[in-house]
Amino acid sequence: MKNLDVELLKSMFIKASETVVEQEPYLTRIDTLIGDGDHGIGMKRGFQALGQMLKQNSIQEVDTLCNESGLELVKTMGGASGVIFGTMFIGGVHKLPHASSCSLPEFAAYLKEGEAAIRRRGKAKAGQKTMLDALIPAAGALLQEAEKGGEIESGFRGAYQKALEGVELSKTMLSRVGRSKNFRNGTIGYPDPGAVSTSLIFKAFYETVKEQTQ
Ligand code: ADP
Ligand code: MG
Repeated sequence: MKNLDVELLKSMFIKASETVVEQEPYLTRIDTLIGDGDHGIGMKRGFQALGQMLKQNSIQEVDTLCNESGLELVKTMGGASGVIFGTMFIGGVHKLPHASSCSLPEFAAYLKEGEAAIRRRGKAKAGQKTMLDALIPAAGALLQEAEKGGEIESGFRGAYQKALEGVELSKTMLSRVGRSKNFRNGTIGYPDPGAVSTSLIFKAFYETVKEQTQ
């Protein structure tokens, strides 16, 4: 399978919605330890609404699907992460065709551009203990695999692996942006909640792709 069609993308986003909702208690626990405790609740609210929106609407084009998904998150989540995760889905939409499917290089470029948009908006860099510490390596790995003509499944497997490594590395980082920076050294040893959420999204993408490309 060389292309991601709108139905596959929809399944990937619905699986991401289910995975985030399932993991809300864990996200809440870590944001309580090193933040203000609202990350799990916000993510759950946004991703639950996203899942419902996707099940109720029949969207035919990949760019519309991604754009509408991001808008749903911004509309329902609120807070810093509403804008951040909304931007992850919206920021690179112009890299996608207005068509019923896209190629792996197009989807990888879309995520990479979403990452760039988050960096522009939030003014955070790699290594500051944010969701970018999972997204930058994951989107980078996907793009690299796509550019060398790799398969969809191996692309998402590598991206998920890199997201997990980013989560592990975030444990060693000192928080420098967002609310958790007030905890300073107290954040060492704990993963960044937004990085964990990002890894859950890539986990869901990989699991869906693995299941549907066999
Ligand atoms: P809030 O900070 O408003 O309480 P959440 O708790 O929902 O929002 O989200 C916190 C997460 O948002 C952090 O774990 C981090 O990953 C991410 N984050 C915060 N600020 C930024 C930023 N400027 N750039 C990228 N990610 C950020
Ligand atoms: Mg918070």
